[in-house]
Amino acid sequence: MDDQELYAIFRKNGYKVTSQRLAVYNYLISREDHPSADEIFNALKEEHPTISLGTIYNSLSVLRDLGLIQELGFNEGSSRYDPNTEVHVNMVCEKCGEIHDYYPEFLETLWEKITNSLEITPTGQRIDIYYQCEKCSNQMKE
Ligand SMILES: [Zn+2]
Ligand SMILES: [Zn+2]
Repeated sequence: MDDQELYAIFRKNGYKVTSQRLAVYNYLISREDHPSADEIFNALKEEHPTISLGTIYNSLSVLRDLGLIQELGFNEGSSRYDPNTEVHVNMVCEKCGEIHDYYPEFLETLWEKITNSLEITPTGQRIDIYYQCEKCSNQMKE
């Protein structure tokens, strides 16, 4: 999606396009590990000295309401933010919390079968797999 399309989505829904909202979105799509609000704040505060954690949360909730990102809540309380709103699998390391996306080729077909057999039109979805990433399972062996 280019900036023009992004602007159009904001305006159509009555939200102001601010440089901070754009910065949060652009940062999220540049990352593949679904950062938390704290991580986004730490990454952006140097380039945007006036940004606050509150602004980050506000931007994230606007982006979520616009359907541009997905908020992944976890038991321990802090949410992670996923710029990928299509059907995919989140591989979540239960040790370090790293999240990576996985798109098996058959997922689309499988998903269609599931939603067809339920006879519903899903309005959202989330598929998480918990495991221990390579780094963490190697640490265990030492
Ligand atoms: Zn994801
Ligand atoms: Zn790990």
